[in-house]
Amino acid sequence: MPKCSICKKKYEGYGNNAQPINNGRCCDRCNTLTVLPKRMEIYMSRKEN
Ligand SMILES: [Zn+2]
Repeated sequence: MPKCSICKKKYEGYGNNAQPINNGRCCDRCNTLTVLPKRMEIYMSRKEN
């Protein structure tokens, strides 16, 4: 089973791209709670400039 690069827990399935948090892969939970909000934050800050 692959290991999440953010929470270090094992997950099932393909996982998700963990960027921009790191260059590894992450579980669905971290993707939803950490990666997506961070992407949105970056997207919003780009939009303002
Ligand atoms: Zn995780």
